[in-house]
Amino acid sequence: SPLFSAIEMAPRDPILGITEAFNADQSPAKVNLGVGVYYDDNGKVPLLECVKKAEAILIEKYAPRTYLPIEGLAAYDKAVQELVFGADSAVIKEKRAITAQAIGGTGALKLGADFLQRFAPDSEVWISDPSWENHRALFESAGFKVNTYPYYDATTRGVNFSGMFAALKAMPAGSIVLLHACCHNPTGADLTDDQWTKIINVVTERGLIPFLDMAYQGFGDGIEADGQVVRRFAEAGGALFVSNSFSKSFSLYGERVGALSIVASSADEAARIMSQLKRVIRTNYSNPPSHGGQVVATVLATPELRQLWEEELAGMRVRIREMRQAFVEKLKAKAPAHQFDFVMQQRGMFSYSGLTKEQVQQMRENNSIYAVDTGRICVAALNNKNIDQVIASIAKVL
Ligand code: PLP
Repeated sequence: SPLFSAIEMAPRDPILGITEAFNADQSPAKVNLGVGVYYDDNGKVPLLECVKKAEAILIEKYAPRTYLPIEGLAAYDKAVQELVFGADSAVIKEKRAITAQAIGGTGALKLGADFLQRFAPDSEVWISDPSWENHRALFESAGFKVNTYPYYDATTRGVNFSGMFAALKAMPAGSIVLLHACCHNPTGADLTDDQWTKIINVVTERGLIPFLDMAYQGFGDGIEADGQVVRRFAEAGGALFVSNSFSKSFSLYGERVGALSIVASSADEAARIMSQLKRVIRTNYSNPPSHGGQVVATVLATPELRQLWEEELAGMRVRIREMRQAFVEKLKAKAPAHQFDFVMQQRGMFSYSGLTKEQVQQMRENNSIYAVDTGRICVAALNNKNIDQVIASIAKVL
């Protein structure tokens, strides 16, 4: 058909491309550090005990599969809101926050982007340089112009805070600023508390619209500690968008569980926002799927399961920290001329390792070790069985 004949092939997703090449590799010693998924020490995606127990409770009920409300399961939205903002936060008590279940963190970002496109179509979006590769595409597909603010400084292997701060200071009022609430993807470099104070002040003073993406709550310094940035923004009193995801923290990737929260200045404003957000949802997919939301709501609302979840999440966080430590120590032994201590300062699943594109390619060709061309490695894909091979390969290309 003439409709289809002019359609060009879309570019391949660079990260999924790594996985395809990895899957085709016949080497028994191959290691994929290109992924964005937590693996346990056996190299497997875990199924959490708290999830198994919640699913057993749900099966027992044999509940009919009716439609959920447009904004999702009420018990889920409530539990998520309390997790994100704190159960006794002012925004919840004053009914200024709304939360809608979303199809993963990606779905939450898309809902926020579509909502903003209706009510702030002239604003431009600013994302960090670099950022999660889908941020740009998501906001562009919602109709926004997407710009970047300076973020990563390759020389210090940390945040270029003065560059970031100056960029925010120069943005026009109403600009939408996408910020990683914790565990920056892809760099692993986060702001300090003092730096956040300065960012919150400049966002408030300049009337910018903060959009916090929290895909890794609990992977940095703990559930509470990682949630502080969101809470501090909520207390600052301006408009606030928060997308969060349970893909990683519940190891529920395929169930697509996330949420979008919006903070308004009054309960009345919040109710109007929710009514409009429901229109966005209704015209996209009508209402979210129920299973993942039921599982998360059950875990969060059942004290024993919640405690179990917190322990299991702590287990993932600690294992990643141990792998960071082993990575640094083993490299120190194998390649003493090189400095990798910064890896311990980074948070979350990823590390910008400082490896160049050429080094990444050599590791792939010589040792079947796959990383992203930017040098991003998934620390959560390291384990006690593969780390020595990875270190040996890195030491050879340095
Ligand atoms: N935001 C960031 C920064 C992410 O890294 C990810 C997933 O990798 C997401 C959002 C999307 O999360 P989900 O898989 O729940 O859609």
